[in-house]
Amino acid sequence: MALQILQITTKFLQFLLLIYGKISCFYKGAKKIKSSVINSSEFLAFSDLIIYKSPNDNYSINSAEIIELFYNLRMDIDRLNYATQISKIIYDVTEENIPAGDILQLFLNTLYVISETDKDLDLIYCVFRIRLLAILGFLPQVSKCVSCGTPMVETMEDFYFSIKDDGVKCESCAKIDKSIIKLSKTTFSALIYVLSCDSKKLFSFEIPDEDLQELKLLCKIYTNQKLDKEYDIQKY
Ligand SMILES: [Zn+2]
Repeated sequence: MALQILQITTKFLQFLLLIYGKISCFYKGAKKIKSSVINSSEFLAFSDLIIYKSPNDNYSINSAEIIELFYNLRMDIDRLNYATQISKIIYDVTEENIPAGDILQLFLNTLYVISETDKDLDLIYCVFRIRLLAILGFLPQVSKCVSCGTPMVETMEDFYFSIKDDGVKCESCAKIDKSIIKLSKTTFSALIYVLSCDSKKLFSFEIPDEDLQELKLLCKIYTNQKLDKEYDIQKY
């Protein structure tokens, strides 16, 4: 099973596969083959592919059946915009022929929520990036102060996230850290939830707008720093 993440030419596509990770695939005789294969080669289509690997390690598609086309993405410019940006990130963080099952699962879940629900697109984009970073091994310390070890407790009202030191700090350690982003209790709880919840329940929460603004700021700075690239959404 594979999700198409990039179309380089009409005959050369890139897919993310459950077992084989990202692969580049030739697509011979594109004009002659039946429509199901043509649909399966649409950007962001999730399909069951039969792929032939030649002796010189080139892949080509033998046949394909659509599993999910995420039709609503193609009908709404905002949804397509977010889905495209997510696809760019996935393309950048995956390597050819390195298994990426967890990333594919996250990608599919995220596309489903964008396509099939009316959930806030900025919240979806934040959740996706935090969880992706966790899958990639970027797990910030959130249980105790990353400098002095003071435990974080539920009774605290404000939390201080250090971009520089990858985790939360107590109030006194935060005072001497210029990379601190102040988070409300709700935003901090949302961060912990996204880092640790069951993948099936990843998008099963809402937060008030003021907390979402904090989460967006944290996500923007933290993600761009960890991935060493700016992935800000360009709004139309
Ligand atoms: Zn401290």
